[in-house]
Amino acid sequence: MTHSILILGGTTEARQLAGSLAARADFSITLSLAGRTESPVAQGVPVRSGGFGGADGLAAYLRKTSTGLLIDATHPYAARISANAASAAHATGVPIIALRRPGWERLDGDRWVEVDNVADAAGALGRGPRRVFLALGRQEVAAFEAAPQHHYLIRSVDPVEPGLAVPDADYLLARGPFREANERALLEDHRIDVVVSKNSGGEATYGKIAAARALGIEVIMVRRPALPDVPSAETVEALAKIVDHLVRPVDERGV
Ligand code: NAP
Repeated sequence: MTHSILILGGTTEARQLAGSLAARADFSITLSLAGRTESPVAQGVPVRSGGFGGADGLAAYLRKTSTGLLIDATHPYAARISANAASAAHATGVPIIALRRPGWERLDGDRWVEVDNVADAAGALGRGPRRVFLALGRQEVAAFEAAPQHHYLIRSVDPVEPGLAVPDADYLLARGPFREANERALLEDHRIDVVVSKNSGGEATYGKIAAARALGIEVIMVRRPALPDVPSAETVEALAKIVDHLVRPVDERGV
């Protein structure tokens, strides 16, 4: 018997999870992407792309495809799709599991200022001009037009177009992972004195946080949004085990 599993992705972990589950002959995996990134990295499994049309649209998709398990492996800041996933799972009775990587913890030497959203981050930069590294998505950086007195270094996967309506901004196109040594060189080369970051967790983007700590640079950390209360695991490996437990037929479990 084949089980259809829908993975809501857009993260490295979602791709890894899809790859590991795809090895199972009894799983039919579909990975769903929002379709925002212009040239997403190859995912190695069947991919569908674009929004579903809210929670109702996702519920209709789950019914139409006879999905037997929904895995929310989206980014911790993708709060809307996570809420939609929880509500579509509830409406259809399809089991749901979330992959929730833990956030970074503040360590000795970290100079974090925590804020609730990017608009507050722009305000927290203060009045005097600073040299700011924005390690944020292109949809989020627009909030910094409210603080045009600063110099911005903006790094994103896709070009920020149109550019920010501020007089002084440099743009860098890059896709992680980013190593600490390279991040440190970047912060030094651009004479950055404050970093704005989400608390994404994981290794791939931690380099800038470690580099900021080593250089004594302040980090304005945007807190995580509230996410729905659904069963979850913290790592790809742990989640793969729960998936197995949830979808394998009872007789194969030997119970
Ligand atoms: P969001 O605000 O939670 O979602 C906005 C809408 O985009 C959703 O309502 C849904 O449209 C659609 N959508 C989002 N993820 C989708 C997916 N995996 N498959 C199909 N549709 C999806 O999401 P976001 O913050 O814009 O993030 C978009 C994507 O980028 C996510 O897949 C996320 O994992 C990835 N990502 C986000 C961040 C971040 O910082 N937010 C960072 C790295 C990667 P409908 O309502 O029409 O279904």
